[in-house]
Amino acid sequence: MNKSSKISGFYKLKPKERLALVKDFAGLTEEECDLIQNTGSLSLEVADHMIENVVGAFSLPLGIAVNFLINNRDYMIPMTIEEPSVVAAASYAAKMVRDSGGFYTTSTPPVMIGQIQVVDIEDPEKARQCVLEAKQEILEKANSQDPVLSSVGGGAKELEAKIISTTVGPMLIVELHVDCRDAMGANAVNSMAESVAPIIERVSGGRVYLRIISNLATKRLAKAWCTVAKEKIGGEEVVNGIINASAFAAADPYRAATHNKGAMNGIIAVVLATGNDHRAIEAGAHAYAAIEGQYTSLSTWEKTDEGDLKGTIELPMAVGLIGGAVRTHPIAKIALKILGVKTANEFAEVLAAVGLAQNLAALRALAHEGIQHGHMSLHARNIAIAAGAGERIADLVAERMVKERKIRMDRAKELIKELSA
Ligand code: NAD
Repeated sequence: MNKSSKISGFYKLKPKERLALVKDFAGLTEEECDLIQNTGSLSLEVADHMIENVVGAFSLPLGIAVNFLINNRDYMIPMTIEEPSVVAAASYAAKMVRDSGGFYTTSTPPVMIGQIQVVDIEDPEKARQCVLEAKQEILEKANSQDPVLSSVGGGAKELEAKIISTTVGPMLIVELHVDCRDAMGANAVNSMAESVAPIIERVSGGRVYLRIISNLATKRLAKAWCTVAKEKIGGEEVVNGIINASAFAAADPYRAATHNKGAMNGIIAVVLATGNDHRAIEAGAHAYAAIEGQYTSLSTWEKTDEGDLKGTIELPMAVGLIGGAVRTHPIAKIALKILGVKTANEFAEVLAAVGLAQNLAALRALAHEGIQHGHMSLHARNIAIAAGAGERIADLVAERMVKERKIRMDRAKELIKELSA
């Protein structure tokens, strides 16, 4: 008989009680339940307060990328990721860039946009004017929600209003520009947007529906650039290959998606390690990549007059040092300590540099030796371990599989048998 997943009051149970139900539903063994509840450094109690319906915790590796020199300062970069070769590639690229002077960065002030959607308006332009005239009152109301943010120099600073045409008619979209200082800011901005809705309804004569932050954080951008000497990257041919790869990504969305994914491999790993909202960063990055109407690359690579390689990346970077899970997850706090950044702006700039490094490593591998070379040996090791190879023979099994170009579980099992005999 089919077991039902309709369970009322599941959320009211304790993690152990929830897991008992899951165990029964999915036929888990005692051992599997123990693994789920073995939460490591994140206690079950903290996990249970972070999200809903908690039954345990899920661990991922935490690695450190080294060699990063950003604005003449050294950084160690904590990365949480399941994919092999990302941390090694970041460290490798950072080494090449370091030898040519390191990364340089800038960023805009940490301003997020909160949107308030107004519908059912007879004269959208008149409503827009009325809202703009009430700007001072609206900003004051927004700022009264968050005196702490104002006390550290942040808060709602500006107000804009635009009319958009939609399938259900014109809408007035009011946008609050909020300086979030060292917070990512979604909760702060959402509370402000909610608080000003009654004023906006009153002055516009319309009806407010949505009141929420935009993840397309075009006012909170981070930029990084670097130059790599042609000798460091493998010569003129590799420089030309990378420039051609960059032009390919700029012109073709199918390539741009993968090009940007490479940069996000690094950025998201750091965002995750520090307990920040990686969905917000992904959403912002990809929306920004399509802002001109066609999805394109977030970075560009060109040749300098000396024949060296110069790369630049720019993207929205809504990350915080406080708020959200940043201060509740014990490892996130330590990861931020390792990173040593003092402000959300500095953090955003480091992330842009990490994205550029990761992008460079991927392009170099593609233009030089083919991405599979490095990637596959690490992948093969994972397959070997998953197939049951112990520490003693995992490398041997992986090596053989790479040589034979047969990186598969069945082959790994055969090799384990052969090598253990
Ligand atoms: P938060 O509300 O927990 O913390 C921010 C608050 O900290 C500020 O409002 C301020 O009062 C206070 N603060 C103290 N010192 C500060 C300083 N130096 N700089 C700035 N603020 C300071 O968190 P948040 O950053 O407003 O929201 C982040 C959370 O919102 C994340 O967990 C995210 O996942 C979640 N979220 C995201 C979305 C989205 O991205 N669309 C939507 C809803 C919620």
